[in-house]
Amino acid sequence: PHSENRRVVVIGAGPSGAIAAALLKRQGHDVLIIERQRFPRFSIGESLLSHCLDFIEEAGMLEAVQAAGFQTKHGAAFGCGERYTDFDFRDKFTEGHGSTYQVQRADFDQLLADQAALQGVEIRYEEEITAADFGGPRPSLQVRRLDGSDYALEAEFVLDASGYGRVLPRLLDLEAPSSFPLRRAVFTHITDNINDPHFDRDKILITTHPEWRDVWFWTIPFSNGRCSLGVVASAERYEGRSLDLDSCLKAFVMEAPNLKRILKHAEWDTPARLINGYSANVKALHGPGFALLGNAAEFLDPVFSSGVTIAMRSASMAAAVLHRQLSGESVDWDSEFSTPLKRGVETFRAYVESWYDGSFQDVIYYERAQPEIRRMICSILAGYAWDNRNPYVAEPRRRLRVLAELCATPTPA
Ligand code: FAD
Repeated sequence: PHSENRRVVVIGAGPSGAIAAALLKRQGHDVLIIERQRFPRFSIGESLLSHCLDFIEEAGMLEAVQAAGFQTKHGAAFGCGERYTDFDFRDKFTEGHGSTYQVQRADFDQLLADQAALQGVEIRYEEEITAADFGGPRPSLQVRRLDGSDYALEAEFVLDASGYGRVLPRLLDLEAPSSFPLRRAVFTHITDNINDPHFDRDKILITTHPEWRDVWFWTIPFSNGRCSLGVVASAERYEGRSLDLDSCLKAFVMEAPNLKRILKHAEWDTPARLINGYSANVKALHGPGFALLGNAAEFLDPVFSSGVTIAMRSASMAAAVLHRQLSGESVDWDSEFSTPLKRGVETFRAYVESWYDGSFQDVIYYERAQPEIRRMICSILAGYAWDNRNPYVAEPRRRLRVLAELCATPTPA
């Protein structure tokens, strides 16, 4: 049967797909995105880090994002009982953007996809990749339209940006277990009515449960008077709690004294949702004729809001290597894509592990911390996890261990 021939096919029009497609199109390559859903569509992952603006800028989309009226974000705040500390992304070790945004992903993802389309990327919505064959001379994909009919697509190269769809990992048997225990998130959007003078709308607030340090909440303000609010905990922490998601979330939130106070006038007007066991990994980030971007490859954990930043960083790195490959140069996906991408992911992994064992929480609340060390930590919280000049990037585990020991030392009398 006849099949359509394209240069690059991208699976999924989320942040990683839109950015990768636009970057390749800007280099003059033919790019087609196949997206299963109709946009706008809900997606989780609303708090952005500063570093992802570097890729939005590279893709020529910064002005459009700046003009969209999203909530500005200058940093991250942390609360636990009566303790509070915050980091301002404008004061950090690594140069780069000092502020970023908190976004309703339905609007944000549509904006990025529309920007890619404006630059000449073709996007077909409500079409789904259902099969893939990388055994022949050229990769070939099976596409299913909304009416159930199928057609075949051939490409020189396929970028899988399908997020939790994990299309190629599933079809090519690349899935691998995550090193993190299964956690689940229950979340909603509220009309927040926050009038607490100490609440900073320009920061994400991460709250630790007063009793269990591995249970935490996100409060992500938007520019329209609403907030995204969620709790993350392992399955055992949900035992004995209401099966009704709204009551479950509300009860959890009311156990955190700072949230109870800040959210006392909130209107809970949206049904809560559940995401179960979200961490995932793969055996390889690339193979002949394909590479995996963003969540299609690996997803660590939401605590540091690193997902969209890693997704866009992978898009930028893959687009650069692929551009050179399509231009006839010989490239090495391992040393030019996989290995350097994983370096930053490993940095985040060290911080996520240390968040859940409690030691990173001791570090951020430590009252006698040196300002320069806080500026280095702040860079990582802003997403600059690939800057090897930062000692807390270059040697995260050793540095964190030393810091944690210091924080555990009693104050001299
Ligand atoms: P996605 O945004 O998931 O896009 C993938 C697209 O591919 C979708 O539009 C989908 O419809 C399409 N698709 C799927 N299958 C197919 C198919 N077969 N054919 C065609 N198209 C297909 N990240 C942050 O940066 N900040 C946060 O605050 C944050 N909070 C989070 C909270 C939770 C509880 C979780 C679980 C994650 C959070 N994340 C956060 C992570 C964030 O959601 C992801 O990292 C991010 O959305 C990944 O982008 P992506 O482009 O890889 O995939």
